[in-house]
Amino acid sequence: MRALCATFVILLLLLSSSPTSLASPIEDLSQNSPSFDPLDELLQTIENSTAPRVMVIGIDGVRSDVAQISASRDESGLARMASEGAWTYDSNVGPISISGPSWSSMLTGVWCDRHGVMGNGFDNHKLDQHLDLIDRVERYDSSLKTASLVYWEPISNLIIGPGIADIQERYDEDAQVHERAVEILREDIDLDLFFVAYDDPDYAGHVHGFSPDVPEYVDAVKLADDRFAELLDVLDERISRGEDWLVIVTSDHGGGGSTLRGHSASSSVVDLTTFMMVRGGETVAGEIYGSVVVDVAVTALTHLEVPLPNGEAALDGRPLAFQPDLESARVPDCSAPIVEVTFSYIVPIVQGTLVLIIAVASFIFFKRRKSTTIDEEE
Ligand SMILES: [Zn+2]
Repeated sequence: MRALCATFVILLLLLSSSPTSLASPIEDLSQNSPSFDPLDELLQTIENSTAPRVMVIGIDGVRSDVAQISASRDESGLARMASEGAWTYDSNVGPISISGPSWSSMLTGVWCDRHGVMGNGFDNHKLDQHLDLIDRVERYDSSLKTASLVYWEPISNLIIGPGIADIQERYDEDAQVHERAVEILREDIDLDLFFVAYDDPDYAGHVHGFSPDVPEYVDAVKLADDRFAELLDVLDERISRGEDWLVIVTSDHGGGGSTLRGHSASSSVVDLTTFMMVRGGETVAGEIYGSVVVDVAVTALTHLEVPLPNGEAALDGRPLAFQPDLESARVPDCSAPIVEVTFSYIVPIVQGTLVLIIAVASFIFFKRRKSTTIDEEE
């Protein structure tokens, strides 16, 4: 094996040093690169095949109407996706508009009645029986390079599971997730499957309200959209060099439908609906109808040419962006949703309680003082 490698390296060196050999087209590629290394470039040309690659971007808690507000701006990444690929502002997240169940559906391609995640507690889940997108890709071909960057820890720890992706990282801020995402996209030429999950809109929604009338929430969605646009810019440079990338961008739920600062335990269409956009590969451009969150994993696997399970194990999602006339997805039968309790949800409750306590205490204090004054006057 070692002898084989050595022979290969010598062969490459010979090829790159010969002026009349295969090296000449590589020199053209190197014109913009000051640190040109012929061997590196040759290896790149060999590996920079047209192998299919996928980028999935999830943005937590984006309601459809606010996604459309963001997409009305020229600089919007969502707008670019809609003009170049398949799009909808009417994608259904299933019967439970909570992060745990919805991210699980997105990444496994099966509904809550199969993966068993009914709330953010992940009680009695059956995720071990349903491979997520990254695990499925790694098991099919472990030489494929996968990367996952998230803010919300359960996506990494429970849905994907520890140590599954080649690069699997979690950050405390969306800004850090984003900085790392740009770095990986710029530098990692081997990347085959890239998953990034942002969270700011969900946080802003829980603190300030999920509504087109709440500036903090609308701004958080716009910022996530701008970050997505920056990823598209970097990706488009790679595509211009011949790489074959499919891009999917969506969210796990809306918000503000049943309560201003929530989205859980809801049958509200506003909470259960979000946007979905797909671009690249065999995508049929234009509006898509009947989109559901489980379509994400299946669309990604189809582009990556990873075989899909058949029979009883068949996934619930469909590659709708490639075949817009497909039958409707199966409607899942999941039990009643569990009320979501997250830190970001608790903050406004604690704030409200404190304000109430201070108000009551002030009222009692001034009332007593007044009665004391009246007593003194009398
Ligand atoms: Zn969420």
